[in-house]
Amino acid sequence: MGEFAGIATAAALKRTGGALRAMFGAALDLALPRLCPACREPVEGQGLCPGCWSKLAFITKPYCERLGIPFVYDPGPGILSMEAIADPPAYRRARAAVRFDEISRALVHALKYGDRLDLAPMMGRWMSHAGRELLAGADALVPVPLHWRRLWARRFNQSAMLAAAISAASGVSVAARVLKRVKPTVQQVGLSRSERAANVQGAFRVPPEARTAVASRRLVLVDDVLTSGATVDGCARALLRAGAANVDVLIFARVADPVRTSI
Ligand SMILES: [Zn+2]
Repeated sequence: MGEFAGIATAAALKRTGGALRAMFGAALDLALPRLCPACREPVEGQGLCPGCWSKLAFITKPYCERLGIPFVYDPGPGILSMEAIADPPAYRRARAAVRFDEISRALVHALKYGDRLDLAPMMGRWMSHAGRELLAGADALVPVPLHWRRLWARRFNQSAMLAAAISAASGVSVAARVLKRVKPTVQQVGLSRSERAANVQGAFRVPPEARTAVASRRLVLVDDVLTSGATVDGCARALLRAGAANVDVLIFARVADPVRTSI
């Protein structure tokens, strides 16, 4: 009887909790109409307003098979960019959902600094679509870690939020804590290419207890923005040193000036 009462109470609590959450959520929605993260206009539902949505620059083929940077014209399948041949990264392939521009930067900033965690599922779905070839053969997703000091200041890691959203959309699990940022790197903004590479040199490490989760596995690194690629390259090097079979990279937005082909 006591046990039964306990179960009944738990069920009642669960119902009450659900109702409270629903009421609270409805009250919040009434009090605070959602704003488009890019233009700050009120929007129906979630995400961008139709005007900003139409300006979003999704990255589609043709692009370099290796770096995922769009080509100006279609050179045919399997052709790589000059960049991929001249300066190949440690990772095998990179894909990004959108180009980094005013609209995508607003989404990234809203997620990162604006407590707009509600944007993560949408951004994760776009990333899952852009990275479907990578995800098809992947064992796990690895979010690019923040240094603990920055994580503490920001309370959450935006790359981990995106990885969770990609996991929900694709079914590929997240391997959290397999990569550690051991050096508090300075912001990459404003640094030259070689300065960025030096900045992340030795910044990432696979802790000994995570080696079995990395060895012989096909991993997909997840990050919000790719500029020079130095950060994900540093991460990929650390994972490959720890025995990963393959490392690909899936990004929300990348700086992508159209590139020339190798021919
Ligand atoms: Zn808008």
